[in-house]
Amino acid sequence: RSNKFLCHSAFNNFKYHGFGAVLSATKASASLPQAGDEFDFYRSFPGFQEFCESQGDKLLHFMSQIMQVHGCRSHLRDRNKLTGLEERFDLIVDSNDVILERVGILLDEADGVNRSQQPVMPAGFQPPKIVVSSWNRKGSGSGSRSEMFRLLHAKNVARPQLKFKEKVDNSNTPFIPKIFIKPNAVKPLPSYFTNKQIRKERPEDLDVPAALADLIHQQRTQEHVEDMFAHPYQYELDHLLLPESLLSKPEVPMDESNFSFIDTLEDLVALNEKLCKLSEFAVDLEHHSYRSFLGITSLMQISTREEDFIIDTLELRSELYILNEAFTDPAIVKVFHGADSDIEWLQRDFGLYVVRLFDTHQASRALNLARHSLDHLLTHFCNVGSDKRYQLADWRIRPLPDEMVQYARTDTHYLLYIYDCVRAQLLDFNHGQPGLLQSVWNKSKDISLKKYMKPIYTEESYLEVQRKQKRSFNTQQLTAFRLLFAWRDKLARQEDESTGYVLPTHMMIKISEELPKEPQGIIACCNPVPPLVRQQVNALHLLVQQAREMPLLKPEVTLFGPHDTSRVSESDHHPFSADGNFIMYACHALTYEDSLPVAQMKARRIIESFENPFRMYLPSSDVHVNKNAKFDPSSKIFEVTNRAKYSHVYPDLDLVHKYTDERNKAKQSYKESLQNVATVRQQSAKGGAKKRERVPSEVGESTPKPSKKLMTPAEKPQKTEPPPEESFKPFDYSQSDLKVFAGNKSKDNTQFDPNRQAHDFKKKVNIQQTVIHIRGIFCFLVQIQTSRCVNHCVFILYRGFRHNWPKR
Ligand code: AMP
Ligand code: MN
Ligand code: ZN
Repeated sequence: RSNKFLCHSAFNNFKYHGFGAVLSATKASASLPQAGDEFDFYRSFPGFQEFCESQGDKLLHFMSQIMQVHGCRSHLRDRNKLTGLEERFDLIVDSNDVILERVGILLDEADGVNRSQQPVMPAGFQPPKIVVSSWNRKGSGSGSRSEMFRLLHAKNVARPQLKFKEKVDNSNTPFIPKIFIKPNAVKPLPSYFTNKQIRKERPEDLDVPAALADLIHQQRTQEHVEDMFAHPYQYELDHLLLPESLLSKPEVPMDESNFSFIDTLEDLVALNEKLCKLSEFAVDLEHHSYRSFLGITSLMQISTREEDFIIDTLELRSELYILNEAFTDPAIVKVFHGADSDIEWLQRDFGLYVVRLFDTHQASRALNLARHSLDHLLTHFCNVGSDKRYQLADWRIRPLPDEMVQYARTDTHYLLYIYDCVRAQLLDFNHGQPGLLQSVWNKSKDISLKKYMKPIYTEESYLEVQRKQKRSFNTQQLTAFRLLFAWRDKLARQEDESTGYVLPTHMMIKISEELPKEPQGIIACCNPVPPLVRQQVNALHLLVQQAREMPLLKPEVTLFGPHDTSRVSESDHHPFSADGNFIMYACHALTYEDSLPVAQMKARRIIESFENPFRMYLPSSDVHVNKNAKFDPSSKIFEVTNRAKYSHVYPDLDLVHKYTDERNKAKQSYKESLQNVATVRQQSAKGGAKKRERVPSEVGESTPKPSKKLMTPAEKPQKTEPPPEESFKPFDYSQSDLKVFAGNKSKDNTQFDPNRQAHDFKKKVNIQQTVIHIRGIFCFLVQIQTSRCVNHCVFILYRGFRHNWPKR
């Protein structure tokens, strides 16, 4: 006992001093010069270097000795066998492990646990290296993770078998099914299984020699042998039928029974409770943006595996926040399709956030499907055709018409099924690795992190919109645009209307370009006329007048030379050039094309300065109408004098209308007059209004680009001949319905219907051909104007020889 006490105090003593020594050593090493500059500086002193090395060697020597005592590899100082610090560190880590393991064993022994006995392990199981502490182990150190957590305490684990009510039958006999009650039986369980007496008493339990036990077993089982080794559910499985429902998609029918329209707080609370118990549900929103400044979430669709819900978010707008309980629960997956806007709308209107989003649009992208729209996923996975007609319906309508309910339900009804499909495919795609699926989760998370930003008006806002139009404005036009933009923003906020409702951008552009002198001119720029424009036309007119007072600085117009040498002709007898050679320069200027080459931009500036259907509101001096124009009412030929280099030449809008009827009559003579003129066969704008734009004012029509080809310098470099005259075909007016122009004003023009514009687009096509003579250069201009965009095709005919073409 006293011995033990002595031991104890000696240990305490050792511990006390040892700990103190370790502490001061740690302190001292921490105050050594830092690696890098400081250390290198000190090391430049030989004394310091020598001291370091001798102390280092001493330390390594001590460490080696300690390691040797514990039977570890210890050649810390042997530079030949070691490549560097890394290996030394590994050696120390290993030694620490061994030492600490030894400490563990000794402590266990002191606790009375006999450590010398090896744990019981299955045969063939290699006892892994014992690892106790890994505080300083590096990831790449010896021993895998599984080794660290293996059978360390195997001997201390209570054998669960001891608690088994029925002993494990390890006898060397075939397995006999354990079943004794057979639910869902079509054929009852054989008596052998239900007869407990036979089963209870097992031969191996009897205290008889093995051979005798086997004999007893054989005898007992003989009569039941067939039953015993058959599958208890063999009959049921043989007669199993595959119902339709298991062959098709696991989908709940869309009928009244599983649909609820939720417009009371009570129902919303009940829904929330339901949702909180689920592991996933699908969500979608419908939104209205036209008659509101910020936009209004008008409907929320939620689908569970069993039911569809439509929430009247106009009715429950200030109550919807309660859904945050389910929406932010990370244990519940919220499936959206293309959630970008939805996430913002949820925040903006209800203060709802989504934690654990799965966006099927992102999944579609990751799977590289042909298209990523919901329609496509519905067709692809569910064989369901969807009708996106209602996407742009006015979702404020109440009561919600049946068709709109059906449409809204389809948006979420299949989403959970799609969610299952895409997840399976994402894993398949990646050979079962979760990488691709993981990336979809991550992308979805990024989307749910989106924050709603309110549109902010600044002094520069208008420039962004103006730049998108890719039009060059002179100072007056730009001023008008800026003033109109500010007016529009202010009024939209004040009246809580969208800017597109107050004044669509393309109309704003038109007014800025025309700078009408009178209020009527403003009205003429808008078709249909927005109610607020009609109401405030005088205020708008004042803004335009203010802009007109700005000093006029026009955009620079430079004439440019041809870049298509393949079109050079030394003997081109052009009707406009009896006395010289012309090079035809084809320029296709698309009003809304994304990136126009500089030359095309310049060309368009010229063109734009020539056409203006609102001429009656603008000065018309300096315009000289070519006599030829009178021969063909549908094509107006103007000549611009040298003096009037920059002056505008405007076709008369009234004349356009008046001439529409005459066009057919004049067609024949027109054809004749064009026989000798280089013309372009231009198809009328083919696109039409396919889809309404998100912002009605953002116009972006695709335009046929036939003359792009003419501009490719590399194309047909050999061909220096001009196109033969026979190949010139006059424009085929039968392709376009020009009658609509004449009857345009007559009917239903009183109500402002933003959609009508889109429908009319296909029909309203105005084609004008103009020949312009500017500073000795002839331009032949074909202009196809629709209510939404103007498409130009220009041939600029250069006179003279190649060496004196204008430099570009
Ligand atoms: P969805 O997720 O397809 O049901 O669309 C939700 C809402 O986004 C609709 O109610 C519309 O307000 C708006 N929206 C969707 N697609 C378009 C589009 N092509 N143009 C304008 N708005 C759209
Ligand atoms: Mn949506
Ligand atoms: Zn939707």
